[in-house]
Parts: sequence; C-alpha cells; structure tokens
Amino acid sequence: MSTRAGTKVFAEKALLPHGWVENVLVSISENGSISAVEQGQAPSGKRVGILLPAPVNLHSHAFQRAMAGMSERRGEEVRDSFWTWRQIMFRFLDALDPDDVEAIAAFVQMEMLEAGYAGVGEFHYLHHQPGGVPYDNLAELSVRIVAAASETGIGLTHLPVFYQYGGVDLRALGPGQIRFGNDPDRFARLHEQAAGSLKALEADAVLGVAPHSLRAVCEEGLAGVVALAGERPVHMHLAEQVGEVEELVGARGQRPVAWLLENHDVSSNWCLIHCTQMMPEETLGLAKSGAVAGLCPITESSLGDGIFDGVRYLQAGGRFGIGSDSNIRISLSEELRTLEYSQRLRDKNRAAVATPERSTGRVLFDGAVSGGAQAAGRNAGRIAQGCFADLLALDGTAIDLEGRDGDDILDAYVFAGDDRMVSDVWSAGRHVVCGGKHVKGDAIRAAYRATMKRLRNRL
Ligand code: ZN
Repeated sequence: MSTRAGTKVFAEKALLPHGWVENVLVSISENGSISAVEQGQAPSGKRVGILLPAPVNLHSHAFQRAMAGMSERRGEEVRDSFWTWRQIMFRFLDALDPDDVEAIAAFVQMEMLEAGYAGVGEFHYLHHQPGGVPYDNLAELSVRIVAAASETGIGLTHLPVFYQYGGVDLRALGPGQIRFGNDPDRFARLHEQAAGSLKALEADAVLGVAPHSLRAVCEEGLAGVVALAGERPVHMHLAEQVGEVEELVGARGQRPVAWLLENHDVSSNWCLIHCTQMMPEETLGLAKSGAVAGLCPITESSLGDGIFDGVRYLQAGGRFGIGSDSNIRISLSEELRTLEYSQRLRDKNRAAVATPERSTGRVLFDGAVSGGAQAAGRNAGRIAQGCFADLLALDGTAIDLEGRDGDDILDAYVFAGDDRMVSDVWSAGRHVVCGGKHVKGDAIRAAYRATMKRLRNRL
C-alpha cells in the first residue's frame, strides 16, 4: 500500500481557487489526488508556511542540461546566434549513450522539482543511436526518460518528437539530426512503444506527441501526427527565430503562426512553444484559439530569440505556461521574472502584465500554473478536491516572505526571492522535495557527476 494514503498537509496560508485562506488542511488520497481541502483547521500532518499549486514545466529537452554554460564563446567570423548554438548542441549529442541520457534526465528533473515544478513536458527528440541506427527497442531513450521520472517522482508528460526533414524545403536531415529522424510509420511504432514504457509510472503520467516544428515536418506529416494524438497534448516549436519565419514565408507564403491557425484546428490540447515572432493579428488569433503559448524566457534570452508579445496576448485572454527548454538554468521564479522584465524593457514601463485586480506576481503565477496543467494534459493546477496533489510550499519565515499576505507573497517570491524559498514539493501526492532538497538528491547528483566526467573524456 502506498505511504501516501492518509497524508495531510497543513498550511498557515494557502492559495485556493477562490483566493488566499489561512489554516488550510489538505488531505491526499492513495492515488495522489486531493481528497479534501478544509479551512480554519488546527495543525496536523506535515506543517508548511505557504502552500501554492505547483506548476508543470511545460517544455524541456533534458539532455541539453549537460551542455549548460558550454556555448558562451564567440566565433570570429559569424554573428553568434541560435544557429551556432545548435551546431554545438549537435556535436554534443553524438557523445550521449542511454545511461547518460537517463542520468542527465534524472538530474534535471530533480532540479525542476527543487525549483517548485511538480511536472515536466519532456519534448523528447533524441531517439536513435549515434549515426542514426535505431536501438533494438525503438523507444529505448523514452524508456530512459521514464526510468528517470520513476526515480525522481516528477509528473511526466512524455512528448515523443516527430522529426522528418532538415528544413522547410524538405531537405534530408543533416549529420547532427539523424538521431532524431523518423518516417511516419516508424514514428507511429516508436510512439506505441513509448506508450508501453509509460506503464512503469503512476496514473498521472501522460503521453502526447510533438511534431518538432514547421521546418522539420511536412504538411502531411503534421496532419498524421496530429491525428495520432487525438485529444492528447500536441506540442510544437513555432515562430522562435526570424530565419525560420523567413523560410516558411518563402515556402508557403505565410508566417508560421498564421499558417498553423489557418490550416489546423488549433485548440486547447495544443501547446505552441516560443511564438516570439508574431504579428499583432497572429497574437490575437493565437489568444483566441485556446491553445497554450509555451514560453521559455530564460532560454529565449540565452538564445537571443526575441521578446514574446505578452501584454497584447494576455489582454486578449491568451493562455501561457512556462518551460525551461534548453535547461541552461532551472528556476521557476527567474522564468516568471524574466518574462515580466522582457515586457518592461521593450515597453519602458512597470507592472506590465498586472491588472487592477491582480498583482504582477499573481498574474504570472496563476498563468503558469493553469497553462502548465492544460498543456501537460494533467488534472492539476488547483488546490481543490479531485485534482492531483501538485503542491509547492514556500518557507513563510524566509526574510522576504515573513509577514507578507495575499498576492504580496507571490510578488516577493518572483521579484525579490529565488528557489531557495521552496521548502517542499509534492507531485501527485509524492513528497519529493523536503526541506528544499530532493529526497534522493545525493544519489542523483553523484550519478550525474559520473556521467559528466565520462562525457568530458569523450568530447
Ligand atoms: Zn525547445
């Protein structure tokens, strides 16, 4: 029997769907969902200061964590850009074996949990051996991502990536891309085997699909993979780079967001990653679609992608969530802060996304929680009966949180604090972070160090 049955969490302050409440007792059932939320209770069970719904990190490429900080030198001839970064990434990929992938994934998932995320949307495109030959099990590397999630307890939305071509003109994959590539038939088989591997996880795990981008799949390929998804999550990179927009305009006469909205029934199970390159009418169209914009502010800053049209998008009712993408740095508070600061720097104002009713921190946090859950296909994002118990506790005695109430707590956390304020995290009721540390942190860190040592020798 699960040790979860009968778990209770008592919070001095908690953010419930209808607002902030004091002395809240949350009960968790054996299947990881919230069985009761009672207000005005006496303390019992695990006691925490401030309890929030924990968001899902909706976009990650786990293996890229291992190259964080490795691409900050400048070439002499070229203007350093996303495309030079991608060349380094492709070289790095050639060195990775399945054990490395699993150790890196476990490490990055642990960091995500310690940062306050309860789940991750793993946009998984590394499928084959170096050289492009499939493993005996087509979904071997999905199995490794799943094994990492089983170890760390993160809520996994696994998104096997369909990657066909090296560009919009349907050119063949380059040497750096052959570990990603599949034709539609092989991808369908891979997807089925990945589905089987998810059975090793608890019931909160989700399988979706991820057509990589409009530059990597053809029109028929995209339609096929969308059909494969049915109602499940569909994630796709979209309109990240100016070069990619120009390529698509050249080939199809339309910008990426405009093309997608016109050619597909984009709705609430879609999550479009980045969308940094949009014209105002595309921003409004995307907001109206009900899809989630998957924003990755730290990575988008790191890669010089551009600034998301956030104020217009939110004013139009657009939904968004946060992803850590390249995993150069895992920090929920910093992602939210960077998103807001990007808007301020562009518009030369303050409190850019705040509304008369809700502070900046509250708008950012609410958006990340509800959009993340939607994008992950996860019944979570609210501290309410029936939802998975994805819970994030902040230390109410932290200097910048002590004595704060209501939305001031979130403003202090996002703008004055950092992830050291995170004391505990539950993912579908699994108590994975305790006292700010992952419960298996020592072993996971040691395995990652060993992997990095091996990789340094191989590179
Ligand atoms: Zn990405």
